[in-house]
Amino acid sequence: MSDLPRISVAAPRLDGNERDYVLECLDSTWISSAGRFITDFERAFADYCGVKHAIACNNGTTALHLALVAMGIGPGDEVIIPSLTYIASCNAVTYCGGTVVLVDNDPRTFNIDPALIEAKITPRTKAIMPVHLYGQVADMDPILEIAKKHGLMVIEDAAEAVGASYKGKMSGALGDCATFSFFGNKIITTGEGGMITTNNDELAATMRLYRSQGMDPNRRYWFPVVGFNYRMTNIQAAIGLAQLERVDEHLAAREKVVAWYEQKLARLGNRVIKPHVESTGRHVFWMYTVRLGEGLSTSRDQVIKDLEAMGIESRPVFHPMHIMPPYAHLATDDLKVAEACGADGLNLPTHAGLSEADIDRVVAALDQVLV
Ligand SMILES: *Cc1c(COP(=O)(O)O)cnc(C)c1O
Repeated sequence: MSDLPRISVAAPRLDGNERDYVLECLDSTWISSAGRFITDFERAFADYCGVKHAIACNNGTTALHLALVAMGIGPGDEVIIPSLTYIASCNAVTYCGGTVVLVDNDPRTFNIDPALIEAKITPRTKAIMPVHLYGQVADMDPILEIAKKHGLMVIEDAAEAVGASYKGKMSGALGDCATFSFFGNKIITTGEGGMITTNNDELAATMRLYRSQGMDPNRRYWFPVVGFNYRMTNIQAAIGLAQLERVDEHLAAREKVVAWYEQKLARLGNRVIKPHVESTGRHVFWMYTVRLGEGLSTSRDQVIKDLEAMGIESRPVFHPMHIMPPYAHLATDDLKVAEACGADGLNLPTHAGLSEADIDRVVAALDQVLV
C-alpha cells in the first residue's frame, strides 16, 4: 500500500459562493423547492447553453424521464440509444414503457456511430438519444439530418457534458431538448440534481407541468395529468448557481490536467491509446479515458486493482447496455465496438483539484502496472 494520499477519480470543487448561498437559504428558511436560486439557476443555465428554457430537476435520471414524457414517448415507441452509456439513458425509456434500440459506437470517441443509426429505424422509432460520453459531444450533424429525414426527435443525454460544444453551439442547444446531471462527480454539482434545456416553448411548459405533480399552473390543486415530484430544492440550486458562476475556471483546471496527461502519457508509447478529440468543438473531459493497447499480459480489471493498491482510483468504462441483465435481450452481434470499449477502457482521475505531481504519480503507476 502507498503512504501517499489517495488520488480519487473525481472530486467536487466547492470554493466559490456555495457556502454563502446555502446559508442564505437557511437564514431565509427558503429550503424547499421554491425560491430565488431555482429561477436564477435555471435562467443562468439557459443563458450559458444559449437556449430559451432550462428546467431544473432533482437528478439527471428524472430529467431524462421528464423530457421523454414531454416528448410523448410511450408504450410501443422506440428510442435509439448507444449501447455504450450509463444505464440511466436506457432506464428512462423503460420508465415510459418505451423500447430501447441499441446502436454501436465509434471506437475512438466512444460516442454513437451515426453511420449505424438508419439501419435501426423502424415505423415505431420516435427519437434518437445521442449521449455525449465522457464530455465530448456526439457527431450531431448527421444525427440531426437523419432525425429530420425520418421525422424523429433528438434528445441529447448531456449529463457528462456541461460546457462542451459542437460547431459553435453548446451541448444542450443541439437537439429538441437535452438533459444534464449535477451528481457529485459531474462537471458541476448540486449534490444530486439535473436540468433539461430546450428552445421549444411547448415542451418546456409540459416539462414544468409534469415536474410538479401535474398541477395546472392556473388552477391550484387541479391535476389534469398524472405528474411527478421531480423538483429541485432551493438549496441544490444555490449550490448549482455558485458552481455555474465558476464553470469556466472548473473547465480550465480540467484542461490543465488533460494537457499533463497528453504530455506525460507519451512515455507509455502504445501501451495506452489516448482519447481522440474531434476538431468539431470543445471536449470537457468529464473523465480522461484511455484504452489499453494490444499485446499486454495484464487486464483492464487487474490494472484497476494494481492502481488502487498504489492509492490511485480509476474506473472501468461503462459496460455496454446489452450485457446488463435488464437489457440482455437487446444483444445483437453488431455491438462489438461497445463490448471492446467496455472491456479495455479505463477512466483516469480527472478533476479540478489534481496537481501536476498527482498526474506524474498516475502515469508512473501506469508505467509500472501496464505490463
Ligand atoms: C450521470 C449520468 C446520468 C444520470 O444522472 P443522475 O444525476 O446520476 O441521475 C445519465 N446519463 C449519463 C450518461 C450519466 O453519466
